[in-house]
Amino acid sequence: MEGKDFDKSRVVSRYPIIVIGAGLGGLGAACQLAYVGKKVLLLEKHNVPGGFATSFVRGRFEFEGALHELSDMGTQENQGSLYRFLERLGVIPDKLQFKQVPEFYRSVFLDGYDVTMPIGVEEYTNKLIELFPSETKGIEDFMEMCKAVLAGIEFIVHKRGKYSAAEVLKEHPWLARVSGLTLAEVFEKFFTNKRLMALIAQLWGYLGLPPHRVNAYAFLAMLITYLKFGAAFPMGRSHALTSAMVKSFEELGGEVRYNALVDRILVENGRACGVELLNGDIYLCDAVISNINPICTTMKMLPQEVVPESYKKQIYAPEIGPSGFSVYIGLNASYKELGFNVHETFINETDDLKKAYESFTKLDPPKYLVAACYNHIYEDISPPGTTQLVLTTLQMGKLWQSVSPDQYHHIKDHIADKMVEMIKDTICPNIRDYIEVAETATPLTYYRYSKNIEGAIYGYTQDILDGPTLRLKSRGSIPGLYQVGAWTNIGGGFSSSILSGRIAAGMYLRDIREGRW
Ligand SMILES: Cc1cc2nc3c(=O)[nH]c(=O)nc-3n(C[C@H](O)[C@H](O)[C@H](O)COP(=O)(O)OP(=O)(O)OC[C@H]3O[C@@H](n4cnc5c(N)ncnc54)[C@H](O)[C@@H]3O)c2cc1C
Repeated sequence: MEGKDFDKSRVVSRYPIIVIGAGLGGLGAACQLAYVGKKVLLLEKHNVPGGFATSFVRGRFEFEGALHELSDMGTQENQGSLYRFLERLGVIPDKLQFKQVPEFYRSVFLDGYDVTMPIGVEEYTNKLIELFPSETKGIEDFMEMCKAVLAGIEFIVHKRGKYSAAEVLKEHPWLARVSGLTLAEVFEKFFTNKRLMALIAQLWGYLGLPPHRVNAYAFLAMLITYLKFGAAFPMGRSHALTSAMVKSFEELGGEVRYNALVDRILVENGRACGVELLNGDIYLCDAVISNINPICTTMKMLPQEVVPESYKKQIYAPEIGPSGFSVYIGLNASYKELGFNVHETFINETDDLKKAYESFTKLDPPKYLVAACYNHIYEDISPPGTTQLVLTTLQMGKLWQSVSPDQYHHIKDHIADKMVEMIKDTICPNIRDYIEVAETATPLTYYRYSKNIEGAIYGYTQDILDGPTLRLKSRGSIPGLYQVGAWTNIGGGFSSSILSGRIAAGMYLRDIREGRW
């Protein structure tokens, strides 16, 4: 036994596989393994599943904690990867229904520019051409490239890991090309108009980096997936999604323990062999899948003598991505009266998205935020005659670590107030008259709840070095240990995190089949 020995009298039971953390990645892995008949124990420190994918109640409002628009879902007739996965697990159609977001997004700039972009590849392309006719050729070529990227992704998904890099390069050269470029570099090849570029780039907040830094593959894959499969929202909020996944998991024979904070991963003969909870309970196993960020998993939960130096370099090299800053607002008037006429509205102070990103690196009010008005797609998400509005921007979590307790509320309230002001100046001039409840979450809130380093909501930054192809993979630092969630595989976000769990499960099963350990 490596590290501190354990008290054998505290062994509760033994499972083939233990998953630590019932965030989206942990749930994805646990469900997939239960689906193929494995006996899995899922351990979660909270008394509910979901991690960031949760909701909370203030006054008469139950707020969605994170999700704005779910990608890669689609419908029965037009199924994305996530739809197929959830259907296979029995989550849909019986346990959960989804609403489709009717339009893609509204884009508002403080100079008065205000457009609403439709969803659907053709509709989006046509709208861009209508708005920027002199850029027609670039727009058409850009959209063709996006379709080529999607074809490449579908090729990879179809092959289920059985493809060579040479094959992808030959059949889908655009994938390799965009993997090594920033979004700004791709834009330069097609467009000249800055407003057009800012308009297409509106979703950059969903990945946490602006065009001059974000990995083009990650961005274009996200854009075209939304356009092809639409944007969805689960009835009952993301808590209903994670609860339905837990229900399927249990029906498939899985076991969940809540209020189970894992303190350390046990190691014998160099491989993961169990976990010890903070209360001293011990569960033994043959493999551990961790939904805890890879730095904490490796540096806090494992005995240090077993961790290879090369793996430490791998987990410390990438930059940690941003956290969120959100203002959850319950308004005592209907969204129709207040002028919230779309679900997702991006508010921009400027076209210069570099500047907007810089505002996340200071304790300053943002120059870019997104306002989600859920009632627009889901009328009864709040009591009749009220509106649930969530304003979200990004902030680098590190900044907040040095905020002193006596300054915390002052800074938090100042930024929140300026975010409400941005809504007052653009969409709803009298918003302040209708605020019934408001709650603000800072990077410290997101850290406290999820225990992700710096409260990072998408894991590592999704730049050129950390796009979907080069990002940390699921195989952990020692045999029998796997990583899932936003920090791994294809990156942060709902569908990517869930699917990262499925990928890790596949890797574990392959490792067994091939006798890797
Ligand atoms: C405000 C906000 C808005 C967002 N909007 C969107 C959006 O619109 N679309 C989108 O796709 N994504 C969005 N995201 C991002 C998305 O929510 C995350 O990327 C994703 O949920 C991360 O999932 P994960 O698997 O990495 O797990 P996490 O959410 O990090 O969950 C980890 C789990 O592990 C548990 N845990 C931690 N330590 C322990 C321990 N020691 N023992 C046991 N359990 C432990 C935690 O309690 C948690 O349940 C948003 C996030 C936020 C915060």
